[in-house]
Amino acid sequence: MARYSDPVCRICRREGLKLFLKGSRCFSKKCAFERRSTPPGMNTQRRRKVSEFGMQMREKQKVRKSYSVLEKQFRNYFEKAEQRSGMTGENLLRMLEMRLDNVVFRMGFARSRAEARQLVGHGHFAVNGRPTNIPSFGTRVGDRIEVRESRRGREIFKTAAETMKSALIPEWVSIEAAKLTGSVLSEPVREQMPPEFNEQLVVEFYSR
Ligand code: SF4
Repeated sequence: MARYSDPVCRICRREGLKLFLKGSRCFSKKCAFERRSTPPGMNTQRRRKVSEFGMQMREKQKVRKSYSVLEKQFRNYFEKAEQRSGMTGENLLRMLEMRLDNVVFRMGFARSRAEARQLVGHGHFAVNGRPTNIPSFGTRVGDRIEVRESRRGREIFKTAAETMKSALIPEWVSIEAAKLTGSVLSEPVREQMPPEFNEQLVVEFYSR
């Protein structure tokens, strides 16, 4: 499975936003962005004004890296989003939100998408009773996501029920924390997706 190998905290500093790519470290004082929020590299003071193209590209990178999607896959998502009815940018965000790793994160099984991606990749989850270890798996309305019976005794899931109860669960999913299970109730509408993304800039980037 392809993945980033660069230091991920640089991504947050580059995008000027905490993207929560490292699990518990993101919530501690060790967070690199909390300590230094300027872009990585030398001579950051001398950076020139960002062009329109630069802004579009940065926004695309911000969305892409938030969901840990590689460039080619992200473009594929965009092309599929264009083919669907409705607003392309919103369709794109919706498809990203419906990825299994993101849904696992939204349900509170993990504290970050990165952690969720790892849990899914290790085969801890089943969708509608079928073991699934593909983070990009596209969930659908009505899907039931659960920690597999054989994995429930693992240390990592002993505290998961408590983590789920304290997580901010969006309205488009429901959880049964005690059963380590959740369901997709609907596709998220724009108001239920991250407000920090300007998807229109991403559409403009790909429409040049
Ligand atoms: Fe980003 Fe997390 Fe690193 Fe902080 S600790 S800079 S939120 S990846």
